[in-house]
Amino acid sequence: MMYFRRSVFIALFWYLHSIVKSSLSIAGSCFATLPYLLRIGESRKEVTDGYPDPISSKTADDLPPRSRGLLFNDIERCTGCGDCEHVCPAGCIEVASEPGAHDSRIWVSVFDVDFSRCVFCGLCVDICQPMSLVHTRQYEGAAYQLEDLVASFGRGQVTEEQREKWHLARQRLSAPQEGA
Ligand code: SF4
Ligand code: SF4
Repeated sequence: MMYFRRSVFIALFWYLHSIVKSSLSIAGSCFATLPYLLRIGESRKEVTDGYPDPISSKTADDLPPRSRGLLFNDIERCTGCGDCEHVCPAGCIEVASEPGAHDSRIWVSVFDVDFSRCVFCGLCVDICQPMSLVHTRQYEGAAYQLEDLVASFGRGQVTEEQREKWHLARQRLSAPQEGA
């Protein structure tokens, strides 16, 4: 009987001990967070900015100089080498090219960047020799559909009509040389 009473007493003690401990923990959390909720004191004011911020009206120009925004490819300068595609750790660049108007010119028909997978590491920009691929300062790229996050900079596939025009132009250029 004595042993039974002792066990009940010990169980009750630990039960009350847990309640006191939990209450102190909750009180400690409230002590830490309530001043922020009630905005008491200088150091406990709001530190986050609203978005879009109606007061400071921050623009892309307010970003740090080395910010990496959405990518842009100047397709006129792009050689279609595919270095950016190979270096991309996220596999989000797709490049396809075909012969252009002249033998020395490559026609970059596809240059897609899937921003839903891009981690903005900047490796593709660093490796681009002609510096056609750059990070812009544009950071607002949200979309409702995943497919809308794919940016296309390619020129599209060359049509038969276009290829025929190039062929005729090349023939015209080479005609005087053949006659000479
Ligand atoms: S920034 Fe990085 S993840 Fe994004 S496309 Fe370039 S290499 Fe790929
Ligand atoms: S963007 Fe630069 S690295 Fe990528 S295919 Fe074009 S030239 Fe090559």
